[in-house]
Amino acid sequence: MRKTLKIMVVLLTVGMMCVSLSACTKTNKIEPVVGTELPKASENKTQSTHNSSIGDVGQAAIPKTDNTPSQSSTPTSFVTSIGKVIVIDPGHANRSNLELEANAPSSSVMKIKDGGGAAGIDTKTPEYLINMKVSLQLRDLLQKKGYTIVMTKTDNSVNLGNIQRAEIGNNEKATLVLRIHADSSENTTVSGASMLVPLPVNEGTKAIIDESNRCGRIILNSLTSEVGMKNRGLDPHSDMTGFNWSKVPVILVEMGFLSNPDEDRKLSDANYQAKLARALADGIAEALK
Ligand SMILES: [Zn+2]
Repeated sequence: MRKTLKIMVVLLTVGMMCVSLSACTKTNKIEPVVGTELPKASENKTQSTHNSSIGDVGQAAIPKTDNTPSQSSTPTSFVTSIGKVIVIDPGHANRSNLELEANAPSSSVMKIKDGGGAAGIDTKTPEYLINMKVSLQLRDLLQKKGYTIVMTKTDNSVNLGNIQRAEIGNNEKATLVLRIHADSSENTTVSGASMLVPLPVNEGTKAIIDESNRCGRIILNSLTSEVGMKNRGLDPHSDMTGFNWSKVPVILVEMGFLSNPDEDRKLSDANYQAKLARALADGIAEALK
């Protein structure tokens, strides 16, 4: 029989976000929800909507309690995943957050924390619902592969700022932070997926762009080839608060256009959401093997 140690930590501390130009007097803490499953050592297991004025396209999950892999033999992916922490950041919330925060450390540019995200042109499905559904399925799939998953949030009413989102990845010393979004355009014929990646705007991002680009490219290729949609490529950004505050590799996937009637309909479909999650999980496993 296989035994697992499962640690579930649910901490939520609400503090004031200090992003004004004056000195910080309070720290802002949103504790992520961590789901960890540690196999025993003895086991044989071996904008778009994202423009510079709206804040980032864009935040903890309760891990399943019964996700123990049933295989008696050890998949290779499980071996390579041990000890790797992946932060999944479902974009947006059920309400916008119009507070301001600094776009980068030492920057005087202030941006809105969360402009609210897009909505389906026909279905009217809000982006945050799709982002969360895919994120939760992705969490479960990656936990089964042996990764430790930290969700920035699992509650759609929690509307984090992008510095908070970045600090969760930093505090976890994440191997990778994947931010989950869907896109929108005034042109309803535009379709496909893209991967936003950081640009070297400060010492923090200079240190993470190579790994972010490498992972982003592999995961986007997996997503578009498995699901069958246009690959719009990497999309480097210098204006993303959630990137500019990150000290760990971070990427943001746009899983298709809610402004495109066909992709809108697909993005609201449960089977399609499951397909997106599987393709992202496969891409992550490929990138981090
Ligand atoms: Zn978004």
